Amino acid sequence: MTNLMLLGPPGAGKGTQAKEIATRHGLIQLSTGDMLRAAVSAGSEIGRHVKEIMAKGELVPDAVVIEIISERMDAPDCKGGVILDGFPRNLVQAAALDKVLEEKKRKLDAVIELKVDDNQLIQRIVGRFTCAKCGEGYHDRFKRPKVRGVCDICQSIEFTRRPDDNADTVNKRLMVYYRETAPLLGYYFCKGTLRSVDGMAPIAEVAKEIDKVLGGTK
Ligand code: AMP
Repeated sequence: MTNLMLLGPPGAGKGTQAKEIATRHGLIQLSTGDMLRAAVSAGSEIGRHVKEIMAKGELVPDAVVIEIISERMDAPDCKGGVILDGFPRNLVQAAALDKVLEEKKRKLDAVIELKVDDNQLIQRIVGRFTCAKCGEGYHDRFKRPKVRGVCDICQSIEFTRRPDDNADTVNKRLMVYYRETAPLLGYYFCKGTLRSVDGMAPIAEVAKEIDKVLGGTK
């Protein structure tokens, strides 16, 4: 069983890489952002509670995400290992994760930092969109569908954009990252689990670097 965590600011490519690794290594991607967005779409009680907070680019309460992650990890499909994407986001969540992992007799094999150039983050985020059917990610400038308006993977013609992927909210999300989440790099460095890869390289190269880290954990 391999349990990984991806760390990096919004736009670093955590979601893209988590999907790549999940497919190739048979791990389950656990994205708190995706789970919260699903709750918002479903209009559940949690969804109604977090909708505004997410739209503002702030963090939702720790207790909400800790419970979601802890429960999700118990599902049978997570037995073979998970990739944490977007959790933890602060030191309180990191301490809670330590406890949850201990209780579930799991360990974190590696925390992978995706190192990126801050100047490029905003343009990487503003402009991204996904296929509404299969979830394939695109970008207005960097990765357009081969046929305009048609998904390369599933040929759907419906796409969605995240409401928090606008310039104002992205600035807020970056500030929250540097204030709340960046200290986790020091936390995991001191635990000896932090590995850094160049997140500015092309997607396939970043994936190869992550593979190397994975190879070293086995
Ligand atoms: P993401 O998809 O990871 O960029 O997350 C989108 C939004 O969901 C964030 O801006 C937060 O509002 C919320 N969110 C996701 N994960 C967490 C978390 N671990 N703790 C608190 N809020 C979160």
